[in-house]
Amino acid sequence: MREGPIDFRFSDEQEAFRDDVKRFIAETLTEEFWQQYRGRESIPEYSRLAGERGWLAVAWPEEFGGEGFSYFEQMIYMEEMAEAGAPQEHHRRAVQQVGPSIILSGTDEQKREFLPRIASGEIAFAMGLSEPGAGSDLAAVSTAARRDGDEFVLNGHKLFTSGAHYSDYLWAVTRTDPDAPKHRGISMMIVPLDASGVSIRPLLDMLGRHHINEVFMEDVRVPASNLVGEENRGWYVNATTMDFERSGIARIAGLRRSRSRAVGELRSTPETQQRLGYPARRARIADLTIAIEVSQWLAYRVTWMQASGLMPNYEVSITKILATEAGQALSREMVGYHGPRAWTLPQGDTSPADIGGPGVTWGASVVGGIPATIAQGSNEIQRNVIATRGLGLPRG
Ligand SMILES: Cc1cc2nc3c(=O)[nH]c(=O)nc-3n(C[C@H](O)[C@H](O)[C@H](O)COP(=O)(O)OP(=O)(O)OC[C@H]3O[C@@H](n4cnc5c(N)ncnc54)[C@H](O)[C@@H]3O)c2cc1C
Repeated sequence: MREGPIDFRFSDEQEAFRDDVKRFIAETLTEEFWQQYRGRESIPEYSRLAGERGWLAVAWPEEFGGEGFSYFEQMIYMEEMAEAGAPQEHHRRAVQQVGPSIILSGTDEQKREFLPRIASGEIAFAMGLSEPGAGSDLAAVSTAARRDGDEFVLNGHKLFTSGAHYSDYLWAVTRTDPDAPKHRGISMMIVPLDASGVSIRPLLDMLGRHHINEVFMEDVRVPASNLVGEENRGWYVNATTMDFERSGIARIAGLRRSRSRAVGELRSTPETQQRLGYPARRARIADLTIAIEVSQWLAYRVTWMQASGLMPNYEVSITKILATEAGQALSREMVGYHGPRAWTLPQGDTSPADIGGPGVTWGASVVGGIPATIAQGSNEIQRNVIATRGLGLPRG
C-alpha cells in the first residue's frame, strides 16, 4: 500500500505479483488437474507445485525457504488461491501457523529441520489443541508431558484434530507442570504422528465426511529437542501461533466465489430471474454482499496492521463472524430459492474452497457450513472478544 492516511490501492509491485499468481493458477489448475484430483480435501501434489515456485511461504525469509516478501504478498497469494478454489488444505496449518511460530520461538535446529520442508509443501501439520475437557477454555488442557532424561513422555487425548490422518506431525499443547497455575504449566511439542503410542481415530462430520479426528497418545516418547520455546511457557508460544495469518482472507475470497456462483445461477434464465421478483430475496442477497465487502476490507486492514507492527484482535473476530455467518445465510438462501433441487445442485465446482467443502450441494452446504462458526474459536467467543477487548466491556 502507498503511504498516506487512507489509500486503498495496492502498489504496482503488489499488483504485478497478483498477476503472477493468477498466471500460475491458470497454468496449474487445469481441467486435467481437476480430473485427476477433484473432490479430494488434501492434495499434497498441488502444495508441492506451489512450494517449488517458492510461494507457499512467500513472506518467510529466504534462508527458510520463503521469498522475503511482506504480509501483503502473502495475503494476495492466499486471496487469489481461494478465489480460484485452489487446494490449500494440505499445507495450510503448517505454513500459516506452525512455521511462523518456529521462526519466532524455535531453536536453530528446529528451523533447519522443519522450515524448508514446510515451505516446499513436503510435510503437513495437524493442530493438537482441543481435548474433551478443553476447547474454548484451552488453558484447561490435560495431555501430560513428563520429562524423562532427553525425552518427554506424552499421555493424552486430542479431539477434533483436522487432517491428522494425512499429516506428518502434531503441533501439541501439553501440560508439563500440573501444579502450576493453569496458563503457566503448558509447553508446546512437535509430535511425529507415526511415533509409537500414537493412534488416530476418525470422527465423521454431519455429512459423513472424514476431516477431523481423535488423537490418542499413550506413553509416546518425543525427543526433548521437539519442545518449542521454553518449558512451561508454551501458552505464550501458542498464543502467537494463533495470531499468524489473521486476516481470514481465504475464507472471504471463498465466500465471494460462492456468492458469484449463486448470483450467476439467479440471473441465468428468465425463469430464475422471475423468482428474484420477491424484494426480500433481493434484499437478502444485498445483505450478503454487504457482509462480504465489509469483511474483505477489514481483512485488508488486518494485513496492513500486521505489516505495520500493530496487533489486530477484535477486527479479526468481526471478519470471522461476518464471513462464516454470511456463508451459512447464502446456503439457506439458495435452498429457499431452489427448493428441493438444492439437494442435487452443486454449490461449488467440488473444490475444497467452497462453503460446505468439496463436492457438496447447496442443500448439504447448510449443514457443511456450520463447523466454520465453531472452529478456530467459536463465534460466541469471537463476540466476547469484540465486547471485552474491542469495547472494554467487563468480562462478567
Ligand atoms: C470442523 C472443525 C475443525 C476443528 N479443527 C480443530 C483442529 O484442527 N485442532 C484443534 O485443536 N481443534 C479443532 N477444532 C475444535 C475447535 O477449536 C473447538 O470445537 C472450539 O474451540 C470450541 O470448543 P469445544 O468444542 O470444546 O466447545 P466448548 O468450549 O465446550 O463450547 C461449547 C459451546 O459453549 C460456548 N461457549 C464456551 N465458552 C463460552 C464463553 N466464555 N462465552 C460464551 N459462550 C461460550 C461455545 O461457543 C460453544 O457454543 C475444530 C472444530 C471443528 C468444528
